Amino acid sequence: MAGSGVDGRGVIVTGGASGIGRAAALAFAAQGDLVLVADLDAEGAKSVVEEIGRAGGTAVAVTGDLSAQDVVDRVAATALERFGGVDVLVNNAGIMDRMSALADVSDAEWERVIRVNLTAPFLLTRAVLPHMLAAGRGAIVNTASEAGLRGSAAGAAYTASKHGVVGLTKSLAVMYRKQGIRANAVCPGGTRTGIAVDAEQGAHGPATLGPHFVNLGRLARAEEQAAAIVFLASDAAGNINGAILPVDDGWAAV
Ligand code: NAD
Repeated sequence: MAGSGVDGRGVIVTGGASGIGRAAALAFAAQGDLVLVADLDAEGAKSVVEEIGRAGGTAVAVTGDLSAQDVVDRVAATALERFGGVDVLVNNAGIMDRMSALADVSDAEWERVIRVNLTAPFLLTRAVLPHMLAAGRGAIVNTASEAGLRGSAAGAAYTASKHGVVGLTKSLAVMYRKQGIRANAVCPGGTRTGIAVDAEQGAHGPATLGPHFVNLGRLARAEEQAAAIVFLASDAAGNINGAILPVDDGWAAV
């Protein structure tokens, strides 16, 4: 694996089949990192791995639902086996909610969104941390959201899950800073990707937010989010720990 510099680091990117995760997987691979693409979408993950291979890089896919412990275990085991360790963990896979206000959130929506957006990063980080601790180094980058900073970017379930991701990131940063581990998060504003709002007219959908959903600025390209993720995972960000970085054309500053 995994020397002290950039070359040959073992990197896990969840949600690497599409959007921000795909762009991050390609960017890590382009600088010589070994990339594990973990995603539900087998076809998409395979196509990203092939794209990296055609460009001369090294990547492997692990397919499955990251909210399941056995899939998480398979991701960690494959990274160890193929790369000899995990230097960088990017917890990026996520799903939108229906943009419902709290009273309109069903048990199923709440549980699924919290499970995928918050519990899955917890499970995979817990699986990977012992190996980072044994190596005495590691960088974790979580994809939170503008909805991790404010109440006006999504529905109640997604907003709560992404505030949770921010909390998880800060806790990791504090608890493990003496052991060589850094944890940071990006908070994307609106970004052109495959993510979809599962909503209909009425109690659900962007209209729920009405006039609060304003000033979001220019939609980002997935590559702009990936650049921030790659930077936070790099040695150049060596003293950045616990940072919650908006990548949002100034939305968080409004
Ligand atoms: P995307 O839908 O293009 O990519 C998300 C990927 O995660 C998909 O490939 C999907 O298959 C995978 N995924 C979803 N649930 C999974 C699960 N249970 N197990 C394994 N893989 C799973 O969307 P994106 O916009 O690139 O999203 C990436 C992250 O960025 C998400 O955490 C999302 O909440 C966050 N985000 C996106 C935006 C935006 O505007 N696009 C804004 C803020 C935050």
